[in-house]
Amino acid sequence: MTPRRPGPITYKGAHRRVGRRRGRARDHGCVDCGGPARHWCYTHDDPAELEDGRGYEYSPDPQRYEPRCVSCHKHVDLARLEGRVLTAPSPAPLQPMLWIEWPTV
Ligand SMILES: [Zn+2]
Repeated sequence: MTPRRPGPITYKGAHRRVGRRRGRARDHGCVDCGGPARHWCYTHDDPAELEDGRGYEYSPDPQRYEPRCVSCHKHVDLARLEGRVLTAPSPAPLQPMLWIEWPTV
């Protein structure tokens, strides 16, 4: 028996908790395509959202995960990342120097 570490639940701990409450992802169908799910996918709508050291967001609430297959999981994660990039204010892009204009004498 290992005593539970103090402090907020970890990324791994949160996913284990989902498995304990709701079973293995592979025993569910993917919420997007209906195929066999492989991952529990965080819905990114928890106001009490946590983030681990690698920048992965997760929730301590097992109800905020949906079963998804690998390709749908990738798809939603990429769409979310692109949305973040598109909406985030960004500095003006650096203009690459494509050519050097020779002085015309
Ligand atoms: Zn799917």
